[in-house]
Amino acid sequence: MVESLQDTSSDALQDILQEVLPAPVRALAEADFSAVARAFGDAGFTVAEPADGILTIRRPRTSRPAVLLSVGVHGDETGPIELTAYLLDALAREPQALAVDLMVCVGSIGAIRAGKRFIDADLNRMFRAERGSLAGTAEAARADEMIAATAAFFADAGPERWHLDLHTAIRASHYPTFAIVPELIEAGARERLVGWLGEAGIGAVILNRETAGTYSFHTAEHYGAAGSTVELGRIGTLGRNDLAQFAAASAALDRLLRGQPSPPDAQASPHLFRVAQNIIKLSDGLTMAFGRETQNFTPLRQGDEIARDGDTVYTVQHAEEFVVFPNPDVRIGLRAGMMVVRIG
Ligand SMILES: [Zn+2]
Repeated sequence: MVESLQDTSSDALQDILQEVLPAPVRALAEADFSAVARAFGDAGFTVAEPADGILTIRRPRTSRPAVLLSVGVHGDETGPIELTAYLLDALAREPQALAVDLMVCVGSIGAIRAGKRFIDADLNRMFRAERGSLAGTAEAARADEMIAATAAFFADAGPERWHLDLHTAIRASHYPTFAIVPELIEAGARERLVGWLGEAGIGAVILNRETAGTYSFHTAEHYGAAGSTVELGRIGTLGRNDLAQFAAASAALDRLLRGQPSPPDAQASPHLFRVAQNIIKLSDGLTMAFGRETQNFTPLRQGDEIARDGDTVYTVQHAEEFVVFPNPDVRIGLRAGMMVVRIG
């Protein structure tokens, strides 16, 4: 999840931001909601910006589904910013088509501007009670703003609550698109979420019992949202993403926001996995049995060594486990990888 912080030429990025990007993409990447806010405000919606990079659009005194859409929680994952920018721009041209109460959150504004994954530390580890060594980082302060806005958004919401936290993966994956879904989501809502993920072209769903401090687990745990961290393909440069890889997700999101039914030819159900064990980094001595180029969902067999950290040796417990998000370079105490088993 955490990788190189090498500066992808900030000047070059600024050039792209200034000259090449379509206006809606540039605006969202800069957390500038002014055009969208004006369109929905003029159409009679209640529009607010409770914090930088956070927009809410609501119809008071109605019980519409509440949908939280977050992008750019990792500043270098730009594809979802593009796809969301186009969806919002299209909706702003016909605001009455919006059928849900919507909160859009652009996560790591500073990191997006800098063309980096984060400034001090991974924002998607901050949504937990104990932040330990992560407290005091720029991202901890940003997470506090996001938590406050999210709590306020869901406080008045009806029972149907969604949170789609859109990411792109760093490394290749046996499933190019996959999602993490907290097991604690109520069964019916979870089933609808997994169905929607299938429509969005998501190939695999990992059910997760324990939080790693992610934003979507937080909304599921505290506000009863059907929340998911959705990995939508490969990381790319803003304005240069191949949007074809996001077409199914974009269409499914558009239907969700417009309250439209699933098409009869909806995509197949995702393959289901469950987290079997988390590899926690206990010390700087952690070594993993595979390199950083290892694909997500690479299979390992029972007894295979996964990682070694001092006296602790992590081995595969089930007949077959698949590695997801391997990364020995996280901070001590954080997850250096997860092992999952196929359940459906
Ligand atoms: Zn990410």
